Formats: sequence, structure tokens, C-alpha cells
Amino acid sequence: MLGVMDLQALLDDLAAEAAPFAAHGKVADYIPALAAVDPAHFGIALATMDGQLYGSGDWQTPFSIQSVSKAFSLALVLARDGESLWRRVGREPSGSAFNSLVQLEYEKGIPRNPFINAGALILIDRLLSLSGDSLGTLRTFLRAESGNANVDVDPEVAASEASHGHRNAALAHFMASCGNLGNPVETVLDHYFRQCSLTLSCGDLAKAGLFLANHGLRADGSRLLTRSEAKRINSVMLTCGTYDAAGDFAYRVGLPGKSGVGGGILAVLPERGILCVWSPALDPKGNSVAGVEALDRFTTRTGWSIF
Ligand code: GLN
Repeated sequence: MLGVMDLQALLDDLAAEAAPFAAHGKVADYIPALAAVDPAHFGIALATMDGQLYGSGDWQTPFSIQSVSKAFSLALVLARDGESLWRRVGREPSGSAFNSLVQLEYEKGIPRNPFINAGALILIDRLLSLSGDSLGTLRTFLRAESGNANVDVDPEVAASEASHGHRNAALAHFMASCGNLGNPVETVLDHYFRQCSLTLSCGDLAKAGLFLANHGLRADGSRLLTRSEAKRINSVMLTCGTYDAAGDFAYRVGLPGKSGVGGGILAVLPERGILCVWSPALDPKGNSVAGVEALDRFTTRTGWSIF
């Protein structure tokens, strides 16, 4: 087991070594507000099961969590609804871009998994039906778990997403035409764009995700998920959390992980903690170049992968 000093020194080393890899990536430019983010940012944070929080670089700077949010919505839906979700969304890797239209049509409006955009829209639709307020339910949860009452939507990013959201609208309308959406398309999209625009820091996110490393137990000791449900979410993160790069991510990092086009990645170290990285420059599949590099180096150095 690495000591406290070692963990802090390790994160400092990884920040220094991995941050330059951002030069090989490009910020997401299909959402104008994300294109404006400085690609030189790099943050890394580790929240451990014993309540410690380590960080290096820009680990306290809030960023747009984008699709990292989808790991949390899957947890909130499974916690309320259990297995019935899987009638409306699959759990196989997509092998296609996260916003593919053609795959959804071939598969008759049943998204391949909950982490591609179409699948995430199903999660939101279901959470809307179950709670009446998908975004509000998620925000309350993130505030409680992170201990940061200021966690909120960045309205500028949300507006930018909404005005450039034609592809997500197409996915939602197509699913509605297949009878796989219970709420109005506009409502689902509004909650989706705001959810993707939630801003948290690496430190906030690492704390908020701890239930995934702790077999479904929340920060206050209450149970969100059964042990088995927590296992299943981590499994889907491993196989689908980084879209059509999930195979490469598993090969390099060896951990369940969920990425977002804001450049964040949350990785689960079962029974140890949550490691979160942020660097906005992405590879062509939409995953943070320096972020994956840092996670690869972390598990290589520590041996803390699931394999
Ligand atoms: N808001 C982004 C979108 O809808 C989320 C995608 C992502 O983070 N992979 O395209």
C-alpha cells in the first residue's frame, strides 16, 4: 500500500508527465462553449475509501462534466427502477461514435448502451418519469456526495449545447418515433443539455463517485445500490464508458472509466477509491488524451488495476 506522501508525490509526477500530451489532442469544437476552454488545463484528484483527498494541477477548478454525468444517472435510475431499464437500452459496447444516428436506426430505437448519447437520453427520460426532475435529482445527489453545495449547471454551456443540439434532437425524435420515449422530446433534451453542463472539479467528482468503489454505499453510509448493482454499473463503464475506444481504454488503464467531451474522466479503483482527471484536449473518439495517459501511468505505477 502506498503511503500518503507517496500518493501525493505520484499525482504530482503524473500531472507533470501527462499534461504535455494535451498537445496531441483537440478541444471539442462542436459545442462552441467547450471550444473556448484553455486546452492547457490539467487536473488529477484521488479520493480514497479512508476519506483522504489528494490532488494535483487544476484539480479544484470546475469543468463541464458532460458525459461523465451519465455514470451517475445510470446509478440513480438503477437504484429506483432496477432491471426493467434494460428493456429500453442495451448494454453492449457500441463500436460506433457516441452520437451515431445510423446505429440507432438499425437497432430500432433501442440504444446499444446507456453511455452513448441515445442511451443517456433514455436514462433521463426514465429519471424524469420516476422523479419528476431528472436534472434536479442528479444535482442534489452530486451536491450531497461531493459535499459541495455550489455544484450547478453552467448556463452558458447549456445554452451553447441547446443551440447546437440538432444531432441529439434527431436521436431523441427517432426514439420517440419508435415509442421509446415517455416524455416530450423537448423536456428530455432540456434536462440532457443541462445535465451535460454541470460543472464539478476533479476533487468534487472523485468524492461524488466513491459509492462506485464502495459497493453502492453513499458518503453518509446509506445504501444507494446493492453490491450487485454497483458491480453492474462498473462493468458497463469498463465495456462502454469510453465509447468506441473502450477496448483501448481497458487495454491501457485496466479500470472502469467514464469520459466526457469536457475532457474529464472518472475511473473506479474498486475498494480503494476514485481517480478523476481533467484535460480538455480530446482524441478523435472524444476522450481526453492527457487524461488517458495519466490513468495509464497511474495503474502501471501502482498496479491498482482490476486485473
Ligand atoms: N453533451 C455532449 C453531446 O451531447 C456529451 C457527449 C460526451 O461527453 N461524449 O454530444
